[in-house]
Amino acid sequence: MRDRYARNITYLRLSVTDLCSLRCRYCMPAEGVPKREHGDACSVEELVEIARAAADCGVRKVRLTGGEPLVRRGILDICRGVSAIPEVEELCLTTNGAALSSLAGPLKDAGVDRLNVSLDTLRPDRYAYMTRVGRLEDVLRGLKAAAEAGFTGTKLNVVLMKDFNDDEIPGFVDLARRYPVEVRFIELMPIGEGGNAQFLPAQAVLDACPDLRPAGGSGVARRYRSPGGRGTVGLIEPMSRRFCGSCDRIRVTADGRLKPCLHSGQEIPLRGLRGEALRQAIQEGVAAKPERHHMDETGRSEAGRNMHQIGG
Ligand code: SAM
Ligand code: SF4
Repeated sequence: MRDRYARNITYLRLSVTDLCSLRCRYCMPAEGVPKREHGDACSVEELVEIARAAADCGVRKVRLTGGEPLVRRGILDICRGVSAIPEVEELCLTTNGAALSSLAGPLKDAGVDRLNVSLDTLRPDRYAYMTRVGRLEDVLRGLKAAAEAGFTGTKLNVVLMKDFNDDEIPGFVDLARRYPVEVRFIELMPIGEGGNAQFLPAQAVLDACPDLRPAGGSGVARRYRSPGGRGTVGLIEPMSRRFCGSCDRIRVTADGRLKPCLHSGQEIPLRGLRGEALRQAIQEGVAAKPERHHMDETGRSEAGRNMHQIGG
């Protein structure tokens, strides 16, 4: 699927719930999802149907996200359904890892190819503070279980926050030197609760670790490696280095609305559509993809929703 700016859209980020087991300060209100904002989530069948229609339109990679996908009832059925779509070459899942220790094996068996695990600090006290309710040891056990279940290429998502985890940058980079993982440092975006933490540009990683050497890059990430490192460091810089020109993705919220861009308020309802009508609506969404976001200039996102309602 080509959009108006000749970008080839092959990647669907499909949110399976807006609920979550954690309350990260930069993402979710302390009291959780306000009732009036909690969307009625699509059924397992509806989500799989959306993924199938997107695959018919040219999508080749699907990422399940949320909220927290592992709290979604039927998550394994969703994984099985999406992984069975022949055109879907890669099924990924982004998780906070809190429930991964018991679910890593079943997720692997259900056809998940790769995991991204969000972990902003390696210090138990800081983890408890930032997530309000989480325990670092659960995530560490989850990562171990994922490796034992046979997951490779796991990525750690680290949102950079000034005066919170800037002093941990060398520790995270060291993880990517010792283990075959990609540590992805992500710039905090001014969306939803994002203002509850302080922005730190990804350049801080290169300043803190001057021995990092360029190791290529994908559309959205610049990659680096420490000399002799087993893994890589990725920088995702939506604020400092806009990557809209190589954006290859669309998003669908858990209540079945297609967002052509994370940072635009535009949404195309997919709920209730099937077959050709569903495919047409997806193509309409791709055609509506804006050229770029303006967050870096305006300092705010026009997403109109919190991050846990979109999926990152
Ligand atoms: N609950 C899962 C998790 O935390 O991995 C999946 C959903 S979460 C919304 C997806 C990613 O978005 C996480 O890595 C999270 O840290 C990131 N995120 C949330 N709010 C953000 C913000 N304001 N700026 C940048 N990243 C954010
Ligand atoms: Fe939940 Fe993920 Fe948001 Fe944290 S970042 S509150 S784990 S959805």
